[in-house]
Amino acid sequence: MADTDDNKRQPKAATRQAETLFRSYMKAEGMRCTTERIAVLREVYGSGTHLDADEIYRRMKDRGIAISRATVYHTLDLLFRVHLVAKIDLGHKHTHYEQSHGVANHLHVVCEQCGLVVEIASAELGGLLERLCREQGFQLGSFSLQVFGKCMDDAAGKTCRRRRKAEK
Ligand SMILES: [Zn+2]
Ligand SMILES: [Zn+2]
Repeated sequence: MADTDDNKRQPKAATRQAETLFRSYMKAEGMRCTTERIAVLREVYGSGTHLDADEIYRRMKDRGIAISRATVYHTLDLLFRVHLVAKIDLGHKHTHYEQSHGVANHLHVVCEQCGLVVEIASAELGGLLERLCREQGFQLGSFSLQVFGKCMDDAAGKTCRRRRKAEK
């Protein structure tokens, strides 16, 4: 899946911080922070994109990391619980995961036809959500939003830009 998020991340510092946070959380919970678990975190933070659990598992296998699929799933769940990864719904049947420490809240715009995902960080949107939450007596926490549409150059086409290109 194509993505545009690479340039928005400072993977190294954020990954190191996330590892430290993960280690201290696991310690507090009396759980062992195994090298496998750290490897899952690094895979998500290093990818700079949105991956599902199976893709993460396959990438790790390809890299020669000995890990079970169950450990990948379980670790992603742990990372989600401590707010180090976000779960996002890109319109597939499965969940995608992404780094959530060291990245600003953002909106995903997903093309329903070709799957292109574009990330948009908007202070204006953050301000709007903050106001809406406040009106309901909430304090805004983190958010991850998905908007589905069709990537296109002009309103005339029935097929999205990328699919049209591919069909030529
Ligand atoms: Zn498209
Ligand atoms: Zn994202």
